[in-house]
Amino acid sequence: MLFYTGAAMGVSVIPMVEAYCMKCKGKTEMKDPKPTKMANGRDAIKGVCPKCGTGMFKIGTK
Ligand SMILES: [Zn+2]
Repeated sequence: MLFYTGAAMGVSVIPMVEAYCMKCKGKTEMKDPKPTKMANGRDAIKGVCPKCGTGMFKIGTK
């Protein structure tokens, strides 16, 4: 959790995000999660699977 200590200080940091990886066929902690917006304006998080490097996507940040 060292990377995310900033969250406790009110800094806008994304906490660990779990998303489903289609390649690993299971939930994994997203690597390098970044906020993004979907075409319809909803918030989403984009990241990479730490095991296989496949792009991951999770809708809704909160
Ligand atoms: Zn994977």
